[in-house]
Amino acid sequence: MENGPFVCTGCALLCDDISVELQDNSIVRVDTACRKGVSRIKGCISPMPCTVDGKAADINTAIKEAAGVLKAAKHPLIFGHGNSTLEAQRKAIELAKKLKAHIDDTSSFCQGPLVEAILNEKLPTCTLDEVRHKADVIIFWGADPSHSHPRHLSMYSYFPRGKQRQRGWEEDRNAIVIDVRKSDTAVVCGKMFYEIPIGTDSEFMDSLISALSNKVPKTSFNMDPKRILELANVLKKAEFGVVFAGLGMTYSLDSLEPLFRLMNKLNETSKFHLIPMVGQYNMRGFDHTLFQETGYINRVYFNGESIEHGPQQSVVELISNNVVDAALIIGSDPLASLPGQIAKKLSKIPLITIDPCENLTSRRSKVTIPSALSGVECGGTAVRMDGVEVALKQILDSNRLTDEQIIARIMEEI
Ligand code: SF4
Repeated sequence: MENGPFVCTGCALLCDDISVELQDNSIVRVDTACRKGVSRIKGCISPMPCTVDGKAADINTAIKEAAGVLKAAKHPLIFGHGNSTLEAQRKAIELAKKLKAHIDDTSSFCQGPLVEAILNEKLPTCTLDEVRHKADVIIFWGADPSHSHPRHLSMYSYFPRGKQRQRGWEEDRNAIVIDVRKSDTAVVCGKMFYEIPIGTDSEFMDSLISALSNKVPKTSFNMDPKRILELANVLKKAEFGVVFAGLGMTYSLDSLEPLFRLMNKLNETSKFHLIPMVGQYNMRGFDHTLFQETGYINRVYFNGESIEHGPQQSVVELISNNVVDAALIIGSDPLASLPGQIAKKLSKIPLITIDPCENLTSRRSKVTIPSALSGVECGGTAVRMDGVEVALKQILDSNRLTDEQIIARIMEEI
């Protein structure tokens, strides 16, 4: 029998139309989700064991040991959060305050600057539902949703027939892809594909601004100015435009100033919005939650009465400067994602990992605590890539504790 609809937590698109077939409290079929979503919903290939010092332990012993490690540390770090519910994120911030700890998340080295600019109202944004119903010009800039968010094009941005876009992608939508290579997204929908050399996003933004100002655009690389003028003409005529900003764009920009200039220029003649292509299902949720509490989205140190914030509080700086002496990792795998030298340093301090699935970081951790898989074994709330809050529903009965419950238990022990 079909059950649902449920929400997929495979990426920050949080598709909410997932149906599953259950047999004896296990999922035997998943409908509607993409391949990435199906593998998330079907659960971990290697579930996380409960261990202390590499040996099997019961959950109470592991929680006590985790509390002991954090209590003994002078400068503990709490990191991860992108794959946890809002409820767990709030609890983690509470724990950071109690411990006078450093807290950071993956936005610190990916889409954080864009989310921060949106929350500080420096970049205009919109919801994915507005994109589906109204958008006529869509730019994928340094983004390849065909792989990162496989249902992006079909659910919201390109293929759907929205209320004001009844004729859909064939006539009503113009998709533009700006990237360093011809991605699969460019193959599928890029009627207009602009290939730019690595690291030239800022230069291309400025040449586009020139074209939007009716000047002949110049680039240091080989691109016909007529093509940039043609692009500017399409952008000027947009009724509802949206820029989906991917990691390719974010990593290429030293500062967001060229992007601010471009968005301001676009909004002189048309209506343009920006949505960051957030990867982990609730990274944006953590940034919103910490922002509400502290005015900052990441890189925070709860130093007693005061709050310190800045680049020196980023996970990368804290580890490379040997500041932190223990780390609690929640729903993340920093040893796999941080640069080699930083990961090596991190692996030298006592680590505690809370996660439903085993990963490289958990294999090097002093304590590992298995948690319920959110959106499957527990419910909760999350923030979609466009800032909309979504309620997650539990699909299976589970006796695993949630991230929130584990953090609460650690707090009790402390
Ligand atoms: S696009 Fe993302 S949220 Fe939607 S089904 Fe695929 S993995 Fe899940």
